[in-house]
Amino acid sequence: MLRTHTCGELNPKNIGEKVTLCGWMQKSRDLGGMTFIDLRDRYGITQLVFNMQTNAGLCEKARKLGREFVISVKGTVEERSNKNLKMPTGEIEIIVDKFDVLNRSKLPPFTIEDNTDGGEELRMKYRYLDLRRNPLRKNMELRHKMTSETRNYLDLQNFIEIETPYLIKSTPEGARDFVVPSRMNQGEFYALPQSPQTFKQLLMIAGYDRYYQLVKCFRDEDLRADRQPEFTQIDCEMSFVTQDDILNTFEGLIKHLFEKVKNINVEDFPIISYDEAMKYYGTDKPDIRFEMKFVELNNLAKGSGFKVFDDAELIVGICAEACGNYSRKQLDKLTDFVRKPQIGAKGLVYVKYNEDGSLKSSVDKFFDQKALKTWAEAFNANPGDLLLILSGETGHIRKALCELRLEMGNRLELRDKNKFRPLWVVDFPLLEWDEENSRFHAMHHPFTSPKAEDIQLLNSEPGKVRANAYDLVINGVEIGGGSIRIFNKELQKKMFKALGFSEEQAQEQFGFLMNAFEYGAPPHGGIALGFDRLVALFGGSDSIRDFIAFPKNNSGRDVMIDSPSTISKEQLDELKLRIVKE
Ligand code: ASP
Repeated sequence: MLRTHTCGELNPKNIGEKVTLCGWMQKSRDLGGMTFIDLRDRYGITQLVFNMQTNAGLCEKARKLGREFVISVKGTVEERSNKNLKMPTGEIEIIVDKFDVLNRSKLPPFTIEDNTDGGEELRMKYRYLDLRRNPLRKNMELRHKMTSETRNYLDLQNFIEIETPYLIKSTPEGARDFVVPSRMNQGEFYALPQSPQTFKQLLMIAGYDRYYQLVKCFRDEDLRADRQPEFTQIDCEMSFVTQDDILNTFEGLIKHLFEKVKNINVEDFPIISYDEAMKYYGTDKPDIRFEMKFVELNNLAKGSGFKVFDDAELIVGICAEACGNYSRKQLDKLTDFVRKPQIGAKGLVYVKYNEDGSLKSSVDKFFDQKALKTWAEAFNANPGDLLLILSGETGHIRKALCELRLEMGNRLELRDKNKFRPLWVVDFPLLEWDEENSRFHAMHHPFTSPKAEDIQLLNSEPGKVRANAYDLVINGVEIGGGSIRIFNKELQKKMFKALGFSEEQAQEQFGFLMNAFEYGAPPHGGIALGFDRLVALFGGSDSIRDFIAFPKNNSGRDVMIDSPSTISKEQLDELKLRIVKE
């Protein structure tokens, strides 16, 4: 090895030892007779000392080192007079006898320190320099720790990791495929997998009853802050299991990760149905770090001549504890918030439950004290609380109130980043009506099994059929989802029919799976967890990009390698492809 130690490990026990370190020159300070250099590697920073009086030549040479030069240093570990107890190596320094420049560096385009002066695009272009900074290094280490703990846990549970191909044909996961032209099969294309869904099911038919894979998936979707065109999943499948077995196994994985990586014991995960989630939180991914559940007021608030309520399909509200003293201005701000086009409510009705027990509302003209009291009781409100009520079309208004609930959660500081409240949402609808194309879509994917008791509704009322599908949600973020699968050809055919496939289309696209069902397919089910999101959540951040070594930017570009890019005429010719300019 070119070094005896790393830059993060020397301490007072090493005093007097001769050592060799290698690293990058982070910073240098000239203090008259002395020069101090911070030498950095992946493990930390060690202070180097050069003394003008004892070795002027070496000191002069050290003063010429530029930022990010790579050097190798020989010297003796000494106790520091000016200790920095915040750093693991802060009690020692190296009196340098000799050093070599292993490589020079151009002046980096931004400072490589915890707080850098580099803008986002610049740091993306020089990602390898950004990755030298502590915050990103810590994120990569967190990711690695989570990868290895995931493997440890699943390994102990008898899962085996099996790789599935990346050049496949479309899997209908609901997004657009990335396609790859085939040179050897002119005019034909592979698709990159949106998930290994069909392969993991085939592995179950092959008898590998506990499969997992930390796998890249590709989806050509419009990008949002927390989306990347390629991302990683912890993908799993199990045979001979019930839904509960799967929930227990993966609740175990998440608890294991919290314990090993963050030293946190999380509580057992509550299980709530999709219908309950929508009714009480207005979303299928509720943030249950705080209560503030929805209360519906249709029975209490209709029929008093207030047209807005009388005409509404749903009247629903939340109780913000101890906000009864909100000023006019604060209430106006909340009204503006719900009226924003992204939220889209027409207005906000409030009821202040005063400390003296009286109630003051924005609809006093229509509702007397007695009526308002019944509302307060429905909310279990106490004097000092504030009721915030919206009304309108059910789906729309639940969504709006969900946003208002999260906003109040933020204002009241109830969404603590260091608190983790995972839960399972179960019993999702099997199908979802697609207005645009006037047809049903699979809410999860077409291989999800309907609940046995709902199968008879598949022809008559497909929208009412519930699925054996579940999502894992943590702090309002959907971390993963899965389902118990169909494993019978006839039912799978019925499902494709409900999704508007002709028999030929179904056979053409998924014949391989349906045929395989005829050779002894075991009952099976599985789940996939979004690994990038899970790591970001553990790292206390909303941005998955900071937890991916080489991510793409908002327009799906890798600005470091400049991709996507055009290809040469020769490559196009070989593939028999022609670019048609619009
Ligand atoms: N393949 C599904 C997904 O990627 C997960 C699953 O059903 O296991 O969302």
